[in-house]
Amino acid sequence: MSLVLEANKVNKYFRKPVLFHVLTDISFNVKKGEFASIMGKSGSGKSTLLYILSTMDTDYEGELYLNNELITGKSHQELSRIRNKNIGFVFQFHYLLSEFSVLENVMLPARKLGELTEKEIEHNAMEILKTLGIDKLAKKKASRISGGEKQRVAIARALINKPSILMGDEPTGNLDSYNSENVFNIFKQLKDEQGLSLLVVTHDMDFAQKTDRIIEMDDGKIIS
Ligand code: ADP
Ligand code: MG
Repeated sequence: MSLVLEANKVNKYFRKPVLFHVLTDISFNVKKGEFASIMGKSGSGKSTLLYILSTMDTDYEGELYLNNELITGKSHQELSRIRNKNIGFVFQFHYLLSEFSVLENVMLPARKLGELTEKEIEHNAMEILKTLGIDKLAKKKASRISGGEKQRVAIARALINKPSILMGDEPTGNLDSYNSENVFNIFKQLKDEQGLSLLVVTHDMDFAQKTDRIIEMDDGKIIS
């Protein structure tokens, strides 16, 4: 079975204000096409772990593999490129550029990657907006759409570079139940139709139970 992500004995310490062993021997993997969720009490280390897995935080011990390639120890510049190309990330808050259009927001990471022409990027962005059912919003300013729509645009932006894994840190935490279900359905559709791998931190038991596997954390450890 092919793995998209693998963590081997990841440990992390915060040194300030006092030495704190926040993650202990975290080992697990995400298989290609798997939709996994992470649950656990507030403060159990979920966000800290996700920042490491998404290569945004490099201050840890242990090894991390993405598509079977060791990424631990790579330079900041290499990681930035690997991340932009391979990892889509959705936060609790959308972080869209409010003065830019929906389409421009979605196109931005592809422009940064610089592998395609403007025309190709726009075409891909419109295709993704269609898949997510929000292509009618393309020309609207990001500040002029609803909260649920903003989060769908944030997902579209996370998908523009065709990542091998989509990660989310409580991506439905700021949404009502209607929009949460909508986001779940989008994730499920991406898995079923495109074989996308997903790793999503959530507080929502209904959401987690519908995923392929729940990884439960407590006190910086995986407990089940
Ligand atoms: P979760 O996302 O599961 O709620 P976090 O990963 O945000 O948990 O935090 C795990 C623990 O690490 C918490 O006790 C938190 O207070 C602590 N923590 C988070 N960030 C820092 C930091 N920069 N410095 C020190 N402690 C931190
Ligand atoms: Mg958190």
